Amino acid sequence: MTTIIDGNAIADRITADVESCATTLSEAGVKPGLATVLMSDDGASETYVSMKQEACEEIGIEGFHYEIDPDAPATALFERIDDLNTDPSVHGILVQLPLPDHVSKEAVLSRIDPMKDVDGFHPENVGRLVAGNARYKPCTPHGVQKILAAEGIATEGADVVVVGRSDIVGKPMANLLLQYGEGGNATVTVCHSRTADLAAKTRAADILIAAAGVPEMIDGSMLSEGVAVIDVGINRVEADAEKGYELVGDVDFESAKGKASAITPVPGGVGPLTIAMLMYNTAKAASLQSGVDVDLP
Ligand code: NDP
Repeated sequence: MTTIIDGNAIADRITADVESCATTLSEAGVKPGLATVLMSDDGASETYVSMKQEACEEIGIEGFHYEIDPDAPATALFERIDDLNTDPSVHGILVQLPLPDHVSKEAVLSRIDPMKDVDGFHPENVGRLVAGNARYKPCTPHGVQKILAAEGIATEGADVVVVGRSDIVGKPMANLLLQYGEGGNATVTVCHSRTADLAAKTRAADILIAAAGVPEMIDGSMLSEGVAVIDVGINRVEADAEKGYELVGDVDFESAKGKASAITPVPGGVGPLTIAMLMYNTAKAASLQSGVDVDLP
C-alpha cells in the first residue's frame, strides 16, 4: 500500500495554527503584514503571488502588493524595497522570483531587511540556517520537513537524496536535513545536472526529494521499494486541457507509486505547504519585530 500524501490537509492544519497566532498578534495591536513585489509578467509568477495574497486575506494577515514594470530599471525595485524596509505595518517582504535579467537577484535579496526576509534568502539568514540557528527557514524546504513529520517519516539516520542544488530548494533542503535534532540527523546526498549515474544515487534513497524542474525525470526504475518520495517539481507541460497545459512533477507519479511507501502528488503535495510556511514566517516576523510572543509549532 502506497500512501498518497495529502499536502492540502497538512497545510490546512498548519494554517489554522498560524491563523490563531495572527489573531493573538492582532489582539495585541500588531496585525502581521506581508508585502509581495512582482517585477515580471510571467503567468506562473502572477498566479503564485495572487495565491500568497489570498492566503493572507483568509487568515488575517494584512497583504500589500506592488507591481513594477519588468522593463523598469533595477533602482525602481530597490526603492520599493527601501520603503518597505522602513514601513512598520510590513513585517515580511517577498520579492517574487525570477527577476528580469537586468536585475541582480543577489543585490535584491541582500537589500531586504533580514528581519523582514520571510523567504529566508538574505545571506544573513542563509548563514544562520547553515549554522543551525535559523531565523526564517525557507518556505518550500520547511514545508517538506513538515510533510515528513506529519507522515511520521523519520529523517534520523535515513539516506536522503535531494535532486537539485538551487539556493531556493535543494541547498536549504539539504542543510535542514543535516542539522542536529528533530527533522534532521539525515545522511544527505545532493545531486544535480553534473551528477554521474543519478539512478544509482536515487536507488540508494530511503527518502527521495526531487527538485530539478524537469518533468517526470525520475521514474519507478530509479527507485527502491519502500522509498518515501517528495516531489517538489511543478512543471507546466502542454496538454489537451482548458488552459492548454497541465502541471506535473519531477517524478513520474504512476511508475514511482508502484515502488514508494508514500508519495506526494503534483499538484496537491508540496505546493500548499510552501504558502502555509510563508504565512508561518510572516507571523514569526511580526512576533520577532513586535516582541509579542506567539506559540508557533
Ligand atoms: P532550479 O532550476 O533553480 O534548479 C534546478 C536544479 O536541478 C539545479 O540544481 C540543476 O542542476 C538540477 N537539475 C536540472 N536538471 C537535472 C537533471 N537532469 N539531473 C539532475 N539534476 C538536474 O529550480 P528550483 O530549485 O527553483 O525549482 C525546482 C523545481 O521545484 C521546479 O519545478 C520549480 O517549479 C519547483 N518549485 C516548487 C515549489 C513548490 O512550492 N512546490 C517552490 C519552488 C520551486 P545544476 O545546478 O547543475 O544546473
